[in-house]
Amino acid sequence: MDETSAAAPKIDPSEPHPARRYNYWLGGKDNFAADRASGDELQRLFPKVRLGALANRSLLQRATRFLAEEAGIRQFLDIGTGLPTADNTHEVAQRYAPDSRIVYVDNDPLVMVHARALLDSSPEGRTAYIEADLNDPESILSDPVLHETLDLQQPVGLMLIAVLHFIHGNGAAKPIVSKLLDALPPGSYLVATHATSDFGTPEQQALYQQLIEQGKSDVWTRSREEFTDLFEGLELVEPGVVPASEWRPDPDLEIPERSDINIWTAVGRKG
Ligand code: SAH
Repeated sequence: MDETSAAAPKIDPSEPHPARRYNYWLGGKDNFAADRASGDELQRLFPKVRLGALANRSLLQRATRFLAEEAGIRQFLDIGTGLPTADNTHEVAQRYAPDSRIVYVDNDPLVMVHARALLDSSPEGRTAYIEADLNDPESILSDPVLHETLDLQQPVGLMLIAVLHFIHGNGAAKPIVSKLLDALPPGSYLVATHATSDFGTPEQQALYQQLIEQGKSDVWTRSREEFTDLFEGLELVEPGVVPASEWRPDPDLEIPERSDINIWTAVGRKG
């Protein structure tokens, strides 16, 4: 147990959890049997789901680099942090801009156990961690740790990477994103990625719908149109809304099939 946590966190290893399942797909060790079983079940339907996880992680790194290096962003609010792995947001941002300040937010108590790795910072910058739920954006926006770490009068990079698809329901994500963006000044950015069924065959789409209805998948996919709508009022940065692997890919990277990735990505700037 990490000494930064005062009380034992409520971790139930018998229930699969997104952070641990994603860690399993990325090849990490911070996962339990239930997470691996859930990961394998989704992989049966989407055999390339690991490719999608890797493409998403790589996008997080390229987009963070874009914000720090090209867009001049020095403050990051990363909601849906995940378990620490190589090149977390603060490591990438501080590599290009050592004075970057990062606030991480996640609702999985296991992420808190790893907070020490996430709270590691360059001497010039700062990182902080809040345990909160994206379904309640007010609780994030009113948290004193957010205001102690970030100056909300200055632009912020809002990172919602592979987290909005855990907000279930038609139209449910938009008000949350709007509430967060309303609290940020002009010059701020939104980076988001989101699982989609758009590239599946009709059979896959029907099967996937069944999984959701039976409660066997916790990932609520959204279409390109629904995803694009989350960026309403923002200027989309080139190349706009594309699969994660196609957003400013590294030149030496082979672009996988869209149907192997199944993740929409975009970066938008608040004017
Ligand atoms: N952003 C990271 C991790 C994605 S995994 C990356 O892209 O690499 C999704 C993360 O979102 C998990 O850590 C999970 O615990 C977290 N999460 C899921 N639902 C959430 C919610 N309602 N509020 C806050 N975090 C949530």
